Parts: sequence; C-alpha cells; structure tokens
Amino acid sequence: MNYDVVIGLEVHAQLSTLTKAWCQCEISVSAFENTKVCEVCSAQPGTLPVYNKKAIEYAIKLGLATNSRINKVSVFDRKNYFYPDLPKGYQITQFQTPVAENGHLDIFDDEGNIKKVGIQRIQMEEDTGKSSHLGEKSLINLNRSGTPLLEIVSEPHMSTAKEASSYLKKLHSILVYLGICHGNMQDGNFRCDVNVSIKPKGSEKYGTRTEVKNVNSFRHVEMCIEHEVQRHQQILDSGNKVLQQTLLFDVETKATKVLRTKSDADDYRYFPEPDLLPLIISDSEIQKVQDNLPELPDAKIKRFILDYGIPAYDANVLTAEKELANYFEAALKNYEGEAKKMSNWIMVELLRYLNEAGTSIERSPVSPNSLAGLLNAINSGKISGKQAKDVFLKMYDSGHSADVIIKEMGLEQISDEKMITEIAQKIINANSVNVEKYKAGNERIFGFFVGQVMKETNGQANPSLTSEIIKRLLG
Ligand SMILES: [Zn+2]
Repeated sequence: MNYDVVIGLEVHAQLSTLTKAWCQCEISVSAFENTKVCEVCSAQPGTLPVYNKKAIEYAIKLGLATNSRINKVSVFDRKNYFYPDLPKGYQITQFQTPVAENGHLDIFDDEGNIKKVGIQRIQMEEDTGKSSHLGEKSLINLNRSGTPLLEIVSEPHMSTAKEASSYLKKLHSILVYLGICHGNMQDGNFRCDVNVSIKPKGSEKYGTRTEVKNVNSFRHVEMCIEHEVQRHQQILDSGNKVLQQTLLFDVETKATKVLRTKSDADDYRYFPEPDLLPLIISDSEIQKVQDNLPELPDAKIKRFILDYGIPAYDANVLTAEKELANYFEAALKNYEGEAKKMSNWIMVELLRYLNEAGTSIERSPVSPNSLAGLLNAINSGKISGKQAKDVFLKMYDSGHSADVIIKEMGLEQISDEKMITEIAQKIINANSVNVEKYKAGNERIFGFFVGQVMKETNGQANPSLTSEIIKRLLG
C-alpha cells in the first residue's frame, strides 16, 4: 500500500455512578421507560443542575490512570443542537477546558513493541435520552438523559486496525479496573467513534477523514477500520476525493453507510454553561484519589511476571480483565506447582470453553479452587495430563470438583506400593521364560512386565512406581 493510515478514537464511557450527572435520578438500564426522570433531566423550566461529586472523582481517577494532567480549573459548556432525545436543546459538556488533558496509554503495536498513544483530552459530559422508532411513530425514553459520561479523545497515533483495538481494550480494562464504568459494550456503556484518514506514504499533510459513529465491539472497530482504509484507497487511486462524512457501520453488510456529509466544522454555538460554576479541583482532592487508585493493568502485568515467573504474553492475557486476573491469583492460592502450568490451563482450556459458550470468567462453572485441585491431582501423579483434559471437560459440564470426577470416572491411579508389588510378583512368577531373557540382557522385555501390570489394573497403576517396583523385583 502506498498510503499511511491515521486513526484517532473517541470513546464515550458511561460512568457507573448510582445517580445522574446533575440530578438524583437513579441510573438504570432495566427500569420501565421514563420512570427514572425528574424535572432536571427532563429540562423543565426553572430547574438547575447540581454537580455529582462521584462523577468528578471518577473523572480524576481516569485522568490519573491515563497519565493525564488534571486541570485544576475546568469549565462546562453548552453544546447547542436540536434532537428529540435532548430535551434541553443543548448538551452540557466541556469544550474550552476539559477536566484532564495530555495523557497517554502504552499499547503493543503489531510487532509486539510498546507504543505510546496520546490522549488529547478527557471531558465530562452527559448522555442523551434514547429514541426508538415504531412504524410511523418515534418514542422517547429519558431514563438515560443526564447520565454522566467521560469522552476520551485520543491523538491520531494509531496506524492499524489492530493498534486501534489494542488501545480500546487497554482503555476499557482501565475503566473497569478503576470501577468507574461497567464496560458493557452491548448496553452502550462503552461506545467508540472511529476517525480514519489515509495520506500518501511519508506525506506531512493529513488526508480527509471520515468518522464512523458508535461502533460497539472491538471486532467491529477493526472491521470498520479495514473497510474504511480500503474504501479511501480505492477513491484516491481512481483520482477522486474522499468526502468528509459521518458514517455508520452496518454489521450485516460489514460496510459503512453515510449518516451525514459534514461541512468543515459543525457550529454548535458553544458557550460557558451559566448554571454551573467552573469546576475547581484542589491538590488535596487529586492526592486523595491518587492514594486510593487500585493496581492498574500495567502494574499487574509487571507484578505477575516478577512474582509468578510467567512470560509477558501470559501476564498480558491474564490481566486484560480484572476478574480474570483475580481468578488466576485465587487459583494459585491452593495450588502447589508452577504458576506457568496454571496460566496454560486458564488460557488454553478454560478460556477456550468460556469463549465457545460466549460466557465470562465470572460465570465459569469451574471455580479457581477446583482448577487448582485438578492441577494438584496431575502433579501428585493421581491422574495423567492426558486424562486431566477429560476430567476438566466433565468438571466444566457438571461444576463438580476434580476429586469427585476422578472417582466417578474411575481414573484414580493406583499408587499403593504393596498392591502393585503383589500383582507384579504374580506376573513375574508366571513368566519365568521372560525373566530369564531379561536377566540374559534383553532389556526390551522389561516393557512386557510393565504392560502386564497395567493390563491387570485397567491402566490405573502409577506407571513410574510400577517400573520402579518391577526393576527391584527383577533384581
Ligand atoms: Zn433527574
């Protein structure tokens, strides 16, 4: 390809505060339509907004966690436009001075190297209501109106679809680690607008960009970027110009379609919100939030590598979700072997079954403790690694512990020395010809005796113990 790709992302993260940004209405996705609404969030005349302190604390949290500068004074602005799901006729947002600026996240680029992606700004704003269309009628539900959002605007530092999705996954995991966003993409807790442009290789001048609105899965973000890059390329190769447009990604056709063609800059007639004082954040408030930040993904990756001796790749996979990291650590608590073995079982077996079932680690039918039990059974020689896979499958299907399944399947290895010695002695007594052969130097005949003990015990005799005993008996 003769072009450089330039990608920037804008994320809208719904904050998981109990109440809305400017009123005390409860935030609920499941409540009956228009039951979580008051005078403020339905924009009745004469009402005034009041700050939600929790939302401000959450904004500071994200600012600090993304290495951003917290602005000690920031201002709220009105963004004016008309839409039926916006009863005030304007959105309260931050235009001139956002709450945080100039941050960055570290991601892995396509070659596996660490790459810094800049975060231009993090601004506080509010969500709109929701409209739905029923035949000729349009319906408005204001339950979501006034839900606090953080808009996180990246610098255009990404150049492939993979990089864009690594950035998003990182940001998503930070929000969830911080406990400030549920991160449920299907419910719209975490929505992404994708800006894409291409320019001739090495050129300084940016190409015309298109913006794809509200893409709601990591996979779709990748698909929509790949599609847009190809589309821009075809347009430029055929001597035409890319139009500055706002697009939607159609999941069915895997293509983008035009929502509206933009003029250079939409005029939202921004002006400072007269009903809210400038937001002033003190050093002590910032310090307090800083002191209470939880361990974040990057720190956890480092700790997992150092404390458990697992490779960077494993640490990266296991910390992508807070719950997964917790699962790993809980499983290690009751496990006596190498952490790498546990990491393999989680990444290869458990995650595969969970992904196939489309379920999450929180709903894993195999508890951390059960998985530890299974791995301990392998390490102690109770079952073989091969048998363990069958046991695991049964554990996954039934939710039972490894010990219960091992008994049920009759897999328990016989490690009773006395019992194996008796069986082995019987076999040796009955096969004197082979004993002579062995004593004459035919060592291959040794396998015959082991095989006979296995046959006698339905394969349950502990193989290494059996060999040891036969060797001893044969002198
Ligand atoms: Zn309200």
